[in-house]
Amino acid sequence: MTKYKLEYIWLDGYTPVPNLRGKTQVKEFESFPTLEQLPLWGFDGSSTLQAEGRSSDCVLKPVALYPDPARTNGALVMCEVMMPDGVTPHATNRRATILDDAGAWFGFEQEYFFYKDGRPLGFPTQGYPAPQGPYYTGVGYSNVGDIARKIVEEHLDLCLEAGINHEGINAEVAKGQWEFQIFGKGSKKAADEVWMARYLLQRLTEKYGIDIEYHCKPLGDTDWNGSGMHANFSTEYMRTVGGKEYFEALMKAFETNLQDHIEVYGPDNDKRLTGKHETAPWNKFSYGVADRGASIRVPHSFVKGDAYKGYLEDRRPNSQGDPYAIASQILKTIASVPTAKKSVAA
Ligand code: ADP
Ligand code: MN
Ligand code: MN
Ligand code: MN
Repeated sequence: MTKYKLEYIWLDGYTPVPNLRGKTQVKEFESFPTLEQLPLWGFDGSSTLQAEGRSSDCVLKPVALYPDPARTNGALVMCEVMMPDGVTPHATNRRATILDDAGAWFGFEQEYFFYKDGRPLGFPTQGYPAPQGPYYTGVGYSNVGDIARKIVEEHLDLCLEAGINHEGINAEVAKGQWEFQIFGKGSKKAADEVWMARYLLQRLTEKYGIDIEYHCKPLGDTDWNGSGMHANFSTEYMRTVGGKEYFEALMKAFETNLQDHIEVYGPDNDKRLTGKHETAPWNKFSYGVADRGASIRVPHSFVKGDAYKGYLEDRRPNSQGDPYAIASQILKTIASVPTAKKSVAA
Protein backbone atom coordinates (compact mmCIF):
# COMPACT_ATOMS: atom_id res chain seq x y z
CA MET A 1 0.00 0.00 0.00
CA THR A 2 1.16 3.54 -0.73
CA LYS A 3 0.09 6.77 0.93
CA TYR A 4 -1.21 9.24 -1.64
CA LYS A 5 -1.54 12.98 -1.09
CA LEU A 6 -4.93 13.85 -2.54
CA GLU A 7 -5.44 17.57 -3.09
CA TYR A 8 -9.22 18.13 -3.17
CA ILE A 9 -9.82 21.35 -5.10
CA TRP A 10 -13.08 23.30 -5.39
CA LEU A 11 -14.53 26.74 -6.11
CA ASP A 12 -15.75 28.86 -3.21
CA GLY A 13 -18.85 31.05 -2.96
CA TYR A 14 -17.26 34.46 -3.59
CA THR A 15 -18.95 36.63 -6.22
CA PRO A 16 -18.61 37.74 -8.89
CA VAL A 17 -15.48 35.59 -9.14
CA PRO A 18 -15.05 32.33 -7.25
CA ASN A 19 -11.64 31.51 -5.75
CA LEU A 20 -9.87 28.19 -5.92
CA ARG A 21 -9.61 26.36 -2.60
CA GLY A 22 -7.82 23.14 -1.78
CA LYS A 23 -6.90 20.85 1.08
CA THR A 24 -4.99 17.62 1.32
CA GLN A 25 -6.24 14.24 2.41
CA VAL A 26 -3.73 11.40 2.79
CA LYS A 27 -5.11 7.95 1.90
CA GLU A 28 -3.66 4.53 1.20
CA PHE A 29 -4.17 2.75 -2.13
CA GLU A 30 -2.56 -0.24 -3.84
CA SER A 31 -1.66 1.97 -6.79
CA PHE A 32 -2.60 5.41 -8.16
CA PRO A 33 -6.35 5.60 -7.44
CA THR A 34 -9.16 5.89 -9.96
CA LEU A 35 -11.83 8.59 -9.69
CA GLU A 36 -14.33 5.94 -8.53
CA GLN A 37 -12.07 4.99 -5.60
CA LEU A 38 -11.98 8.53 -4.22
CA PRO A 39 -14.36 9.16 -1.32
CA LEU A 40 -16.63 12.16 -0.85
CA TRP A 41 -15.13 14.65 1.59
CA GLY A 42 -16.31 17.77 3.40
CA PHE A 43 -15.26 21.28 4.36
CA ASP A 44 -16.41 24.20 6.47
CA GLY A 45 -18.63 26.17 4.11
CA SER A 46 -18.95 29.06 6.57
CA SER A 47 -15.35 30.03 5.75
CA THR A 48 -15.94 30.06 1.98
CA LEU A 49 -19.30 31.87 1.74
CA GLN A 50 -21.05 28.56 1.08
CA ALA A 51 -22.87 27.98 4.37
CA GLU A 52 -24.06 29.57 7.60
CA GLY A 53 -21.94 28.99 10.71
CA ARG A 54 -24.56 26.86 12.44
CA SER A 55 -24.85 24.20 9.78
CA SER A 56 -21.63 24.63 7.90
CA ASP A 57 -20.83 21.30 6.29
CA CYS A 58 -20.52 21.16 2.51
CA VAL A 59 -19.66 18.04 0.57
CA LEU A 60 -16.85 17.63 -1.97
CA LYS A 61 -17.57 15.24 -4.81
CA PRO A 62 -14.55 14.25 -6.93
CA VAL A 63 -15.27 14.74 -10.64
CA ALA A 64 -11.86 14.85 -12.35
CA LEU A 65 -8.49 13.42 -11.38
CA TYR A 66 -4.93 14.30 -12.44
CA PRO A 67 -1.52 13.16 -11.22
CA ASP A 68 0.21 15.99 -9.32
CA PRO A 69 3.64 16.38 -10.95
CA ALA A 70 4.92 18.63 -8.15
CA ARG A 71 4.31 16.15 -5.33
CA THR A 72 5.59 12.65 -4.72
CA ASN A 73 2.54 10.34 -4.82
CA GLY A 74 0.29 13.34 -5.31
CA ALA A 75 -3.07 13.68 -7.04
CA LEU A 76 -5.10 16.73 -7.98
CA VAL A 77 -8.80 16.10 -7.46
CA MET A 78 -11.28 18.54 -9.01
CA CYS A 79 -14.48 18.53 -6.97
CA GLU A 80 -18.03 19.77 -7.26
CA VAL A 81 -19.54 21.29 -4.12
CA MET A 82 -22.67 19.44 -3.01
CA MET A 83 -25.26 19.94 -0.27
CA PRO A 84 -24.91 17.80 2.89
CA ASP A 85 -26.98 15.03 1.22
CA GLY A 86 -24.08 14.53 -1.19
CA VAL A 87 -26.32 14.47 -4.28
CA THR A 88 -27.87 17.95 -4.60
CA PRO A 89 -25.53 20.45 -6.24
CA HIS A 90 -24.77 23.52 -4.10
CA ALA A 91 -26.08 26.84 -5.50
CA THR A 92 -22.46 27.88 -6.27
CA ASN A 93 -21.83 24.70 -8.28
CA ARG A 94 -21.83 25.97 -11.89
CA ARG A 95 -20.27 22.80 -13.29
CA ALA A 96 -23.47 20.93 -12.45
CA THR A 97 -25.40 23.29 -14.76
CA ILE A 98 -23.44 22.30 -17.89
CA LEU A 99 -25.46 20.13 -20.27
CA ASP A 100 -23.86 16.72 -20.74
CA ASP A 101 -22.69 16.53 -24.34
CA ALA A 102 -19.76 14.35 -25.36
CA GLY A 103 -19.86 15.95 -28.83
CA ALA A 104 -19.32 19.50 -27.53
CA TRP A 105 -15.74 20.74 -27.86
CA PHE A 106 -14.29 23.85 -26.21
CA GLY A 107 -10.98 25.64 -26.60
CA PHE A 108 -10.26 28.43 -24.07
CA GLU A 109 -7.52 31.01 -24.53
CA GLN A 110 -6.63 32.15 -21.02
CA GLU A 111 -4.85 35.51 -20.86
CA TYR A 112 -3.42 36.82 -17.58
CA PHE A 113 -0.82 39.17 -16.09
CA PHE A 114 2.02 38.32 -13.75
CA TYR A 115 1.95 40.83 -10.89
CA LYS A 116 4.72 41.67 -8.47
CA ASP A 117 4.68 44.45 -5.85
CA GLY A 118 1.30 45.67 -7.11
CA ARG A 119 2.21 46.12 -10.77
CA PRO A 120 2.73 43.98 -13.87
CA LEU A 121 6.01 42.07 -13.86
CA GLY A 122 8.60 44.16 -15.71
CA PHE A 123 6.92 47.52 -15.06
CA PRO A 124 9.18 50.16 -13.48
CA THR A 125 8.39 51.39 -9.94
CA GLN A 126 7.14 54.67 -11.43
CA GLY A 127 5.30 55.17 -14.71
CA TYR A 128 5.23 52.74 -17.59
CA PRO A 129 7.65 50.71 -19.70
CA ALA A 130 8.02 51.34 -23.46
CA PRO A 131 4.59 51.21 -25.17
CA GLN A 132 2.96 48.06 -26.54
CA GLY A 133 4.22 46.68 -29.81
CA PRO A 134 7.19 44.36 -29.30
CA TYR A 135 5.82 42.32 -26.40
CA TYR A 136 3.26 40.14 -28.22
CA THR A 137 5.03 36.85 -29.07
CA GLY A 138 8.24 38.72 -28.26
CA VAL A 139 11.64 37.41 -27.33
CA GLY A 140 14.58 38.98 -25.49
CA TYR A 141 15.17 40.49 -22.07
CA SER A 142 13.71 43.94 -22.90
CA ASN A 143 10.50 42.31 -24.07
CA VAL A 144 9.86 39.50 -21.60
CA GLY A 145 12.29 40.13 -18.73
CA ASP A 146 14.36 37.47 -16.98
CA ILE A 147 11.81 35.38 -15.10
CA ALA A 148 8.43 35.24 -16.88
CA ARG A 149 9.44 32.71 -19.52
CA LYS A 150 10.96 30.43 -16.86
CA ILE A 151 7.61 30.38 -15.02
CA VAL A 152 5.58 29.92 -18.20
CA GLU A 153 7.73 26.96 -19.25
CA GLU A 154 7.56 25.40 -15.79
CA HIS A 155 3.79 25.80 -15.81
CA LEU A 156 3.48 24.24 -19.26
CA ASP A 157 5.50 21.21 -18.17
CA LEU A 158 3.47 20.79 -14.97
CA CYS A 159 0.23 20.90 -16.96
CA LEU A 160 1.42 18.45 -19.62
CA GLU A 161 2.64 16.05 -16.95
CA ALA A 162 -0.74 16.28 -15.24
CA GLY A 163 -2.38 15.33 -18.53
CA ILE A 164 -3.92 18.75 -19.14
CA ASN A 165 -4.42 19.33 -22.83
CA HIS A 166 -2.53 22.55 -23.46
CA GLU A 167 -2.48 23.46 -27.11
CA GLY A 168 -0.06 26.36 -26.88
CA ILE A 169 1.33 29.37 -25.06
CA ASN A 170 2.36 32.89 -26.11
CA ALA A 171 3.55 36.19 -24.72
CA GLU A 172 0.74 38.76 -25.05
CA VAL A 173 0.35 42.37 -26.13
CA ALA A 174 1.03 44.04 -22.78
CA LYS A 175 4.29 43.67 -20.86
CA GLY A 176 3.93 40.98 -18.21
CA GLN A 177 0.90 39.48 -20.00
CA TRP A 178 0.77 35.86 -21.23
CA GLU A 179 -1.68 33.32 -22.63
CA PHE A 180 -2.21 29.59 -22.65
CA GLN A 181 -4.76 27.62 -24.67
CA ILE A 182 -6.58 24.50 -23.53
CA PHE A 183 -8.75 22.33 -25.73
CA GLY A 184 -11.07 19.54 -24.66
CA LYS A 185 -13.67 17.19 -26.14
CA GLY A 186 -16.78 16.85 -23.98
CA SER A 187 -18.81 19.69 -22.51
CA LYS A 188 -16.91 19.87 -19.17
CA LYS A 189 -13.38 18.73 -20.00
CA ALA A 190 -11.73 21.97 -21.15
CA ALA A 191 -13.38 23.93 -18.34
CA ASP A 192 -12.08 21.44 -15.74
CA GLU A 193 -8.61 21.75 -17.19
CA VAL A 194 -8.65 25.57 -17.27
CA TRP A 195 -9.45 25.61 -13.55
CA MET A 196 -6.75 23.02 -12.88
CA ALA A 197 -4.21 24.96 -14.97
CA ARG A 198 -5.09 28.13 -13.04
CA TYR A 199 -4.55 26.22 -9.80
CA LEU A 200 -1.13 24.98 -10.93
CA LEU A 201 -0.12 28.47 -12.09
CA GLN A 202 -1.11 30.11 -8.81
CA ARG A 203 0.59 27.42 -6.74
CA LEU A 204 3.75 27.56 -8.85
CA THR A 205 4.16 31.33 -8.58
CA GLU A 206 3.97 31.32 -4.76
CA LYS A 207 7.71 30.59 -4.56
CA TYR A 208 8.50 33.50 -6.90
CA GLY A 209 6.54 36.03 -4.83
CA ILE A 210 4.40 36.65 -7.91
CA ASP A 211 0.61 36.74 -8.19
CA ILE A 212 -1.60 36.03 -11.17
CA GLU A 213 -3.85 38.98 -12.04
CA TYR A 214 -6.91 37.73 -13.92
CA HIS A 215 -8.79 41.04 -13.93
CA CYS A 216 -9.79 41.90 -17.49
CA LYS A 217 -8.50 45.47 -17.40
CA PRO A 218 -5.96 45.71 -14.58
CA LEU A 219 -4.36 48.88 -15.99
CA GLY A 220 -7.71 50.64 -16.37
CA ASP A 221 -8.57 53.06 -19.14
CA THR A 222 -5.08 53.23 -20.65
CA ASP A 223 -3.55 52.07 -23.90
CA TRP A 224 -2.55 48.78 -22.25
CA ASN A 225 -4.50 45.75 -23.46
CA GLY A 226 -6.95 43.94 -21.24
CA SER A 227 -7.16 40.17 -20.79
CA GLY A 228 -9.72 37.88 -22.35
CA MET A 229 -10.56 34.24 -22.36
CA HIS A 230 -11.83 33.65 -25.90
CA ALA A 231 -14.13 30.63 -25.99
CA ASN A 232 -13.87 28.53 -29.14
CA PHE A 233 -16.75 26.09 -29.38
CA SER A 234 -18.37 23.52 -31.60
CA THR A 235 -20.96 20.77 -31.32
CA GLU A 236 -21.14 17.64 -33.39
CA TYR A 237 -24.01 19.20 -35.36
CA MET A 238 -21.99 22.35 -36.08
CA ARG A 239 -19.05 20.27 -37.27
CA THR A 240 -20.89 17.70 -39.38
CA VAL A 241 -24.15 19.33 -40.60
CA GLY A 242 -23.97 23.08 -40.04
CA GLY A 243 -25.20 25.17 -42.97
CA LYS A 244 -25.90 28.85 -43.45
CA GLU A 245 -29.50 28.71 -42.25
CA TYR A 246 -28.55 27.01 -38.98
CA PHE A 247 -25.63 29.40 -38.49
CA GLU A 248 -27.87 32.44 -38.90
CA ALA A 249 -30.44 31.02 -36.48
CA LEU A 250 -27.63 30.35 -34.00
CA MET A 251 -26.33 33.92 -34.28
CA LYS A 252 -29.88 35.23 -33.78
CA ALA A 253 -30.09 33.20 -30.55
CA PHE A 254 -26.76 34.59 -29.37
CA GLU A 255 -28.05 38.10 -30.09
CA THR A 256 -31.31 37.47 -28.21
CA ASN A 257 -29.43 36.04 -25.20
CA LEU A 258 -26.78 38.79 -25.15
CA GLN A 259 -27.48 39.75 -21.54
CA ASP A 260 -27.36 36.15 -20.24
CA HIS A 261 -23.99 35.69 -21.90
CA ILE A 262 -22.47 38.97 -20.69
CA GLU A 263 -23.58 38.14 -17.13
CA VAL A 264 -21.29 35.09 -17.02
CA TYR A 265 -18.47 36.34 -19.26
CA GLY A 266 -16.57 37.86 -16.33
CA PRO A 267 -16.93 41.07 -14.27
CA ASP A 268 -16.05 44.57 -15.48
CA ASN A 269 -16.26 43.45 -19.10
CA ASP A 270 -17.69 46.87 -20.07
CA LYS A 271 -14.23 48.25 -19.28
CA ARG A 272 -12.62 45.78 -21.69
CA LEU A 273 -15.22 45.39 -24.46
CA THR A 274 -15.04 49.01 -25.52
CA GLY A 275 -14.60 48.61 -29.27
CA LYS A 276 -10.86 49.29 -28.93
CA HIS A 277 -7.94 46.83 -28.63
CA GLU A 278 -9.52 44.19 -30.90
CA THR A 279 -12.81 44.04 -29.01
CA ALA A 280 -16.48 44.61 -29.80
CA PRO A 281 -18.64 46.88 -27.62
CA TRP A 282 -20.15 44.68 -24.87
CA ASN A 283 -23.76 45.78 -25.45
CA LYS A 284 -23.96 45.14 -29.19
CA PHE A 285 -23.78 41.64 -30.63
CA SER A 286 -21.92 41.18 -33.91
CA TYR A 287 -20.20 38.50 -35.92
CA GLY A 288 -17.85 38.50 -38.86
CA VAL A 289 -15.49 36.34 -40.87
CA ALA A 290 -11.95 36.64 -39.49
CA ASP A 291 -13.14 39.77 -37.65
CA ARG A 292 -11.27 40.33 -34.39
CA GLY A 293 -13.44 43.38 -33.74
CA ALA A 294 -16.65 41.29 -33.60
CA SER A 295 -18.31 39.54 -30.65
CA ILE A 296 -18.04 36.24 -32.50
CA ARG A 297 -15.23 35.64 -34.98
CA VAL A 298 -16.12 33.21 -37.74
CA PRO A 299 -12.94 31.45 -38.90
CA HIS A 300 -12.22 31.28 -42.65
CA SER A 301 -12.38 27.50 -42.33
CA PHE A 302 -16.01 27.79 -41.18
CA VAL A 303 -17.34 29.54 -44.30
CA LYS A 304 -15.09 27.70 -46.74
CA GLY A 305 -17.07 26.47 -49.74
CA ASP A 306 -20.21 27.96 -48.13
CA ALA A 307 -20.30 24.97 -45.77
CA TYR A 308 -20.79 26.99 -42.57
CA LYS A 309 -19.32 24.08 -40.63
CA GLY A 310 -16.81 23.88 -37.83
CA TYR A 311 -16.14 25.99 -34.74
CA LEU A 312 -16.80 29.59 -33.76
CA GLU A 313 -14.87 31.92 -31.47
CA ASP A 314 -16.78 33.96 -28.89
CA ARG A 315 -14.28 36.74 -28.11
CA ARG A 316 -16.26 38.28 -25.27
CA PRO A 317 -15.51 36.05 -22.26
CA ASN A 318 -12.83 37.66 -20.12
CA SER A 319 -9.84 36.34 -18.24
CA GLN A 320 -11.69 36.34 -14.91
CA GLY A 321 -14.69 34.43 -16.23
CA ASP A 322 -15.66 31.02 -14.88
CA PRO A 323 -15.23 28.54 -17.76
CA TYR A 324 -17.97 26.37 -16.19
CA ALA A 325 -20.50 29.22 -16.35
CA ILE A 326 -19.33 30.18 -19.85
CA ALA A 327 -19.61 26.66 -21.28
CA SER A 328 -22.96 26.25 -19.57
CA GLN A 329 -24.45 29.39 -21.16
CA ILE A 330 -23.05 28.71 -24.63
CA LEU A 331 -24.55 25.20 -24.66
CA LYS A 332 -27.84 26.53 -23.32
CA THR A 333 -28.10 29.00 -26.19
CA ILE A 334 -27.11 26.35 -28.74
CA ALA A 335 -29.75 23.99 -27.31
CA SER A 336 -32.44 26.65 -27.90
CA VAL A 337 -31.88 26.51 -31.67
CA PRO A 338 -33.69 23.73 -33.51
CA THR A 339 -31.51 21.52 -35.68
CA ALA A 340 -32.63 20.26 -39.07
CA LYS A 341 -32.34 16.59 -38.09
CA LYS A 342 -35.90 15.75 -39.16
CA SER A 343 -35.68 17.31 -42.60
CA VAL A 344 -32.29 15.64 -43.15
CA ALA A 345 -33.87 12.25 -42.42
CA ALA A 346 -36.92 12.95 -44.62
P1 ADP B 1 -6.29 32.97 -31.87
O1 ADP B 1 -5.37 33.59 -30.87
O2 ADP B 1 -5.94 33.28 -33.30
O3 ADP B 1 -7.73 33.23 -31.59
P2 ADP B 1 -5.55 30.35 -30.69
O4 ADP B 1 -4.69 29.37 -31.44
O5 ADP B 1 -4.95 31.04 -29.52
O6 ADP B 1 -6.13 31.37 -31.79
O7 ADP B 1 -6.85 29.59 -30.19
C1 ADP B 1 -7.70 28.86 -31.02
C2 ADP B 1 -8.43 27.84 -30.18
O8 ADP B 1 -9.47 27.18 -30.95
C3 ADP B 1 -7.54 26.72 -29.66
O9 ADP B 1 -7.65 26.69 -28.25
C4 ADP B 1 -8.16 25.46 -30.28
O10 ADP B 1 -8.07 24.39 -29.42
C5 ADP B 1 -9.60 25.84 -30.50
N1 ADP B 1 -10.29 25.01 -31.50
C6 ADP B 1 -9.81 24.55 -32.68
N2 ADP B 1 -10.72 23.76 -33.31
C7 ADP B 1 -11.82 23.70 -32.50
C8 ADP B 1 -13.11 23.05 -32.60
N3 ADP B 1 -13.46 22.31 -33.66
N4 ADP B 1 -13.98 23.23 -31.58
C9 ADP B 1 -13.67 23.99 -30.52
N5 ADP B 1 -12.49 24.64 -30.38
C10 ADP B 1 -11.55 24.50 -31.34
MN1 MN C 1 -4.90 33.07 -28.87
MN1 MN D 1 -4.59 36.32 -27.00
MN1 MN E 1 -8.62 34.06 -29.91
